Amino acid sequence: MCEDQEFDTRYQDMIVCPWCGSKWYDDDSYYASAGTTEETCEECGREFSVEANIEVTYTTSRKLCENDEHEYEYDRFHFSTQDYQRGQWINLPEEKWKKVNIFKCKKCHHEDFRREEIKDEEWEQARNDANRRMASHRL
Ligand SMILES: [Zn+2]
Ligand SMILES: [Zn+2]
Repeated sequence: MCEDQEFDTRYQDMIVCPWCGSKWYDDDSYYASAGTTEETCEECGREFSVEANIEVTYTTSRKLCENDEHEYEYDRFHFSTQDYQRGQWINLPEEKWKKVNIFKCKKCHHEDFRREEIKDEEWEQARNDANRRMASHRL
């Protein structure tokens, strides 16, 4: 064994004796919780220190509102002229059409769908939207 040989001892998967290069596993992650630890190599009998390198990662998740904490703002609307039944879109008769106002919570982005009757002045736009939707479904 050459006294001056250097071993790769930094950031290794196994503990490497810096004197003789023998390796062993930290099976029960003892060193991760022990801080810097003095060891004696079982192969060569010399002393060295072990320090576990712990990689820190971060996990985040969105904080959602409780039901009564939403702060809704008006976001957009659409006309509901179709219904999804048994796997396909069915065109509803006009008397079942509704205007759907969508409010979005500015804190958690939850959407609240509020349906209302279509006003007289909105029918033209509703019919245009429905025609456009039907045309795109035929493609
Ligand atoms: Zn050793
Ligand atoms: Zn919210």
